[in-house]
Amino acid sequence: MKPIIASTLALLFLVAPLIARQPADQPTLPNWVAARLAQLSPDRPMEYFELGEEVSYELPGPLGRSTAQSLFVLAYLLDDRLGPHACLALADVTTSAEERQWLLAMAQSMGSSQADSRTRLDRSIADEDLRNRLADAIRVLRAEDGRLLREVLSTEPAAQFITHLKQSDPVLSSALAQASAAAQSANGCPRCRNRRIVSGSGARAGRSICPRCIGNPGLALSERDMLDSLRVEAQLRDAEPATWSATLVLTKDRPLRDIRADDLARTYSVDQSRTIWSAELGWHAPKSD
Ligand SMILES: [Zn+2]
Repeated sequence: MKPIIASTLALLFLVAPLIARQPADQPTLPNWVAARLAQLSPDRPMEYFELGEEVSYELPGPLGRSTAQSLFVLAYLLDDRLGPHACLALADVTTSAEERQWLLAMAQSMGSSQADSRTRLDRSIADEDLRNRLADAIRVLRAEDGRLLREVLSTEPAAQFITHLKQSDPVLSSALAQASAAAQSANGCPRCRNRRIVSGSGARAGRSICPRCIGNPGLALSERDMLDSLRVEAQLRDAEPATWSATLVLTKDRPLRDIRADDLARTYSVDQSRTIWSAELGWHAPKSD
């Protein structure tokens, strides 16, 4: 055989299985997502939420969106403390304005039922844009990236907001101060810069999962700290005027207390019993043995 034909054939043999496994019309999840999904366990609901956040951030397309939505709903079904946060996260990934309103209203109703009677932020001081940017920055900080928070906090409006907050809401103020301290040295995973994969060189050429963060960059937060971080984010977003108007619009037609976890599960076609994921079966029920 002529060398050129031989090498072409060799190339075909190499490429053919790849083509067969990944048809163009059926996108597959990246390996790091599949690996993390397979590690989820219903006794650790927070991990569903965290992975949902990462997937929605890293995979903005339809497949990432539907995967993240399932994860957020499951997190809530497994731990109802995560309800308002799951609704806020779902509101962020949806492409429908109507659905977003519904989710924000639902987050609002769950938040207020948590007996958090803290005084509302003064809207004349912090505008909606600043609160949203702070909330975004708090979220990115959970992935060990403090750059956005440092940037937002260095602005004059933010400084005014923080000063005001010390009086009006000392708890939120100290939570933000803590986040700010954590952000000072957080620049993402120092090895992969939150790309999760690293390229090897020489004998170890190719791309492999980052050995430092094992494909999961983030601050090592305890469950309590994680809930605190989520609460700060929710509080910053709660004061959004659009949220209030959404609540008013929706309560006119339908009492919010009638919206239950079931609605959320049905809307996103999530089966409460299917909490385990594998590449072969997708979402399925844990084995009962
Ligand atoms: Zn890394």
